[in-house]
Amino acid sequence: MNQRELFLRHVAQTSPAPLALDIVKAEGVYLFDAAGKKYTDLIGGISVANTGHRHPQVIAAIQKQLDAYLHVMVYGEFIESPQVQFAQLLAEHLPAPLSSVYFTNSGAEAVEGAMKLAKRVTGRTRILAFSNSYHGSTQGALSIMGNEYWRNAFRPLLPDVLHLQYNSQEALDEINEHTACVIAETVQAEAGIITPDRSWMQALRKKCTETGTLLILDEIQAGFGRTGKLWGFEHFDVVPDILLLGKSLGGGMPLGAFVASKDLMDQFTDNPVLGHITTFGGHPVSCAAGKAAMEVLLKEDLASSVAAKEKLFRELLVHPNIKAVRSFGLWMAVAFDSFETNKRIIDASIEQGVLTDWFLFASNCLRISPPLTIDEEQIRAACKVITDHC
Ligand code: PLP
Repeated sequence: MNQRELFLRHVAQTSPAPLALDIVKAEGVYLFDAAGKKYTDLIGGISVANTGHRHPQVIAAIQKQLDAYLHVMVYGEFIESPQVQFAQLLAEHLPAPLSSVYFTNSGAEAVEGAMKLAKRVTGRTRILAFSNSYHGSTQGALSIMGNEYWRNAFRPLLPDVLHLQYNSQEALDEINEHTACVIAETVQAEAGIITPDRSWMQALRKKCTETGTLLILDEIQAGFGRTGKLWGFEHFDVVPDILLLGKSLGGGMPLGAFVASKDLMDQFTDNPVLGHITTFGGHPVSCAAGKAAMEVLLKEDLASSVAAKEKLFRELLVHPNIKAVRSFGLWMAVAFDSFETNKRIIDASIEQGVLTDWFLFASNCLRISPPLTIDEEQIRAACKVITDHC
């Protein structure tokens, strides 16, 4: 049996039509398959490879940690310096009061931890989430996913969850003294890059503060320079009570985190003690990689070039078949008239060595979320392939 047949037989499948590229090497913005074909990666592992694949500093940090230790103890018992140093670096670059970092293995686990913390802190049960939101696939994260098609088969889910219209007054009106938390993506990703009004985000923050509701912002895709600032919420001049991180956080290794004030987070130490437990969360190799990736992002000031690259993409992605381009930094949804048109262009682009895909809740939109290191020449070449096949 060849590799593809083994993949289809033994690696559990959830997609009826997986891309099934046999990637043997990744470097910078490029992926290479077993036949030696090179692909420009326009999706970066879905907003993961912000500093490019296998940045040398990230690889060196991983190798150094491999020589020191791997897993030694469950989360939070030992002083593991990669965790300590990465948490400190994050805290230094986050506004007050976001200074206490709980590391998890994935984005969805960060979502789960944050919802638990909100219930524990407020003593309330109601969770408000938004239509077309995506926060992960575990039961709790699925309960707040804003799409009935994906939720329905897995009921019963978490009780007391309400889905509201993103960026709407109706949503603000629903927040009251019974609400434990509002959980929102700073910019909705899988809906096809939907950016809220600045005034709405500020009103959301205000209403949460007035009612003692915790505001949880999911920056699992938006974080780490993707929007042109280190954090997406900086564009809106708000600070969440709990920030969710993942994807690019681990520099290519699995890592998630929820970040809150020390006062809030300390409530996990009491009634019950060990309020949130993980064996592998904050794995030392993941933290070493994540810290190195964040240092690269800051040192190379990758966020500062995002606006110009976004502008270039927008200038180049012009074609009668392109109905709209919605973007927020190096994060864009190129809209076509239908999924069929989009899929045809995606398939042709992949054939020509440009990797892209579509969005979960916007299947007519082509996804662009490349490594932030992508350069002008690479952008021009990739856009030419897309528009040539429109
Ligand atoms: N939140 C957002 C906005 C995401 O895009 C994702 C994953 O795509 C998640 C949460 C869940 O992260 P993970 O797949 O690491 O569990």
